[in-house]
Amino acid sequence: MIRLADRTKRLGTETAFEVLVKARALEAKGKHIIHLEIGEPDFDTPSNIKQAAKKALDDGFTHYGPAAGLPQLRKAIVDEVSRTRGIFVDADQVVVTPGAKPIIFFSILACVNEGDEVIYPNPGFPIYESVIDFVNARPVPLVLREDKEFRFDMEDLKKAITPKTRMLIINSPQNPTGGILTDADLRKIAEVAVQNDLIVLSDEIYGRTVYDGFKHSSIAALPGMQERTIILDGFSKTFAMTGWRLGYGVMPKHVAEMVAKLQINSTSCTASFSQIAAVEALTGPQADVEKMVEEFRRRRDAIVAGLNRIHGFRCHKPLGAFYVFPNITGTGKDSRMLADVLLNEAGVACLSGTAFGKYGEGYLRFSYANSLENIDQALERIDKAVHRL
Ligand code: PLP
Repeated sequence: MIRLADRTKRLGTETAFEVLVKARALEAKGKHIIHLEIGEPDFDTPSNIKQAAKKALDDGFTHYGPAAGLPQLRKAIVDEVSRTRGIFVDADQVVVTPGAKPIIFFSILACVNEGDEVIYPNPGFPIYESVIDFVNARPVPLVLREDKEFRFDMEDLKKAITPKTRMLIINSPQNPTGGILTDADLRKIAEVAVQNDLIVLSDEIYGRTVYDGFKHSSIAALPGMQERTIILDGFSKTFAMTGWRLGYGVMPKHVAEMVAKLQINSTSCTASFSQIAAVEALTGPQADVEKMVEEFRRRRDAIVAGLNRIHGFRCHKPLGAFYVFPNITGTGKDSRMLADVLLNEAGVACLSGTAFGKYGEGYLRFSYANSLENIDQALERIDKAVHRL
């Protein structure tokens, strides 16, 4: 019997994948399931990007490339990040990774010592807490508050800081709530980060999936911040490219060198033809991205209105990402129990708010990366199931 290393006891996971397995098992038994649990766009990758990948295969981009990414993609990322964030970035500050997730793993491994404290949003993307634990640092949750449209309280942030705090993770637009941080929030957070000499990991993967005129800005653009910020972004959500495994980080040069070294020690590099397709994604026509965002907005409006009509549900209308996070305390059930009832009895797969940390209790997360017809049908089924509770 192979004994696992002690550190593995501290590794968490993403329940979304477990729920998907349960849902697939029910489907195998003939049950019809509407999938509102998965955090990926249901659209196909735009065809110009697929064409670029096919051409790249024919052109021989089938070998190893530099650990930090192909020069042409790093250059395209420099242009994109400089333009959209209003900062000057150099190519040696960019590391391309297989998906954006490794940026979380590598930057925490590179910058956080055992015993350090890392403040992270809760409810939040579960990988933050998992990796903080894994490196034997202390995860310090920063509670997101429904009455602040799922932003956090600056006083809570200030209270969470101790001499051991090393890093603060922010995520806007946010998974699982769809909440955003305002420019005023970012300014206050930046002040706190500079005063307390914190590293900020700014997860901006949903930066282009925003609605109602909201404009995403990066904390990296604020005074004193670029030298202490690691921007995480990628292609999975914006360009419907989850399976291509393409993401990147933008960070100070010495951090980028260490993140590239971690890549050499693990994945070597990101698939070369995927990277050539990513150049097309950034520099080619953007109409498909705009269409996807517009379609997400229509679905958001439908699901928010529908959930607010269901007894015991209260749903805030988010300004970003493709998730809603309704408060379900009025149903009298806890989050896990209600998510199970919806899956088993209504055939609607969603996630318990607690999949995103303990402060997710009282909420469910629905992804609206599904057609309007399916969303409408799911709403009807949820309504009926809640009546039967
Ligand atoms: N950050 C957040 C907040 C996410 O929701 C996700 C994916 O769900 C990621 C990072 C990772 O994205 P990728 O699929 O590119 O690794």
